[in-house]
Amino acid sequence: MKIIIVGGSFSGIYCAIKVKELYPSFEVLLIEKKEKIGYIPSGLSMLLNGEIRSLDEAYFMTKEELEKSGVTVLTSTEVTSYNLSSKVIETTNGTKQFDKLVLATGSSQKSSKMFDEFSDIKTYKDRESAEITLKALEEVKDVVVIGAGQAGMELASGLIHQGKRVHVIETMDYPLYKYFDKDFLESFYTTTGKIEGLTFYFNETVKQIDDSILLFSSGNTIDITDKLVLSANSVRPELSIFKNQLKANSDHTIFVDDYLETSVQDVYAVGDLIQVPSFIFQTNVYAPLIVNAVQTSMTCAKNIVEKKETLRPMLKTIGVKLFDYYLASTGLMESEDFLYHEEVKSVMMTLPISTVYKKDIKVKLVYDATTYHLLGVQLISKEPVLDKINTFALVIKEKIDIRTLNQLPHFYNAVFANTSLSLFDVFEKGDDSSEV
Ligand SMILES: Cc1cc2nc3c(=O)[nH]c(=O)nc-3n(C[C@H](O)[C@H](O)[C@H](O)COP(=O)(O)OP(=O)(O)OC[C@H]3O[C@@H](n4cnc5c(N)ncnc54)[C@H](O)[C@@H]3O)c2cc1C
Repeated sequence: MKIIIVGGSFSGIYCAIKVKELYPSFEVLLIEKKEKIGYIPSGLSMLLNGEIRSLDEAYFMTKEELEKSGVTVLTSTEVTSYNLSSKVIETTNGTKQFDKLVLATGSSQKSSKMFDEFSDIKTYKDRESAEITLKALEEVKDVVVIGAGQAGMELASGLIHQGKRVHVIETMDYPLYKYFDKDFLESFYTTTGKIEGLTFYFNETVKQIDDSILLFSSGNTIDITDKLVLSANSVRPELSIFKNQLKANSDHTIFVDDYLETSVQDVYAVGDLIQVPSFIFQTNVYAPLIVNAVQTSMTCAKNIVEKKETLRPMLKTIGVKLFDYYLASTGLMESEDFLYHEEVKSVMMTLPISTVYKKDIKVKLVYDATTYHLLGVQLISKEPVLDKINTFALVIKEKIDIRTLNQLPHFYNAVFANTSLSLFDVFEKGDDSSEV
């Protein structure tokens, strides 16, 4: 059996490893158009933030490591066309025949139509574009970042760290709106908005860009003569190469069944190419995150011979360090309550991280008003508390009654932990809708 996997990033690599592990006799060929596999898309931000010293460190796996698991890896090889019904693909290294094909070609920062109009916007998701952007950064003091989502804010944080003046543009009226409620983030963005060199442009959408002026839909402008413009807005897959051979969803992702098979038999799609089932909304959503790329690829591998296991519903969960803050979020936000079928309530609280260590962690819990099941959590602290979000994600998935949180097994240590009594008290007093 010959399995071809196209794309050498998170979804392609983990799918290849899992297929080879489950079916050692299968011939597994992974094709990647870049020179190397396994680049981490936040490499440039990590470098600018001082987390790594060179982009060479921004890889999670090498070709040699992958080949050790028995996978054949073809790099610098681009798939240029697909004939899915004949089970043939054309590549820059010749024609290849497959029995099963896994599409793991991901998404692009260049999918927006802005790029048709202004070719000089820089991106940085892959190594090559990150190198070009890094070089261009040497020439400028001012950088315009389009998009204040996780990627844009991480980049802005790194650019400030490097002493640049940063102009962040966001269509919404606050940053990180996909993961945090506005009331929860208010103190974060008012504080960071005062950081020297950082300017937010909220409620502004880029309408047009030429060599010297960036025009917003509002009519406002920014002079970009000596500025570098970087895109950090939403990514989407590029599907034109499939020439309508595959059924697509309305958001331009590839349609797959519960077992990751596309509308064409023996052709599968994973990672950023597809939607995933949402645990909270009981519908499919587009959530281009690494965890989803890995989980979809694992499930795909298990179904490659026969359909055995459906994809488990996902919770969108992120953790990020921005400027001096650690921020994490999982599940439903209060602002999304209209998408949930029952009444939703929330509580916000600020607690000391431990009994003796008085630094705070601010938490917002969103829960079902009738069942008291936890639905979503947001947290922020100046201390590295990101791991806590994984525990909350588990509480959500296990549908645990929020009033029993302090009865869950946990340790107490006066230096490293707090008692959960304060959390418990909130619900005991029936005070379940105010800031504590
Ligand atoms: C700047 C940035 C930072 C991010 N940070 C995070 C983060 O911190 N945490 C998180 O969870 N998610 C993050 N994400 C999202 C995450 O990167 C994606 O969800 C993940 O990379 C998807 O993996 P994938 O394998 O599906 O696709 P991709 O990573 O997009 O990889 C697709 C691969 O296919 C190759 N390819 C494409 N077309 C062809 C072709 N025709 N022939 C051969 N090869 C081809 C590409 O070169 C690429 O290597 C970030 C995204 C961006 C843009």
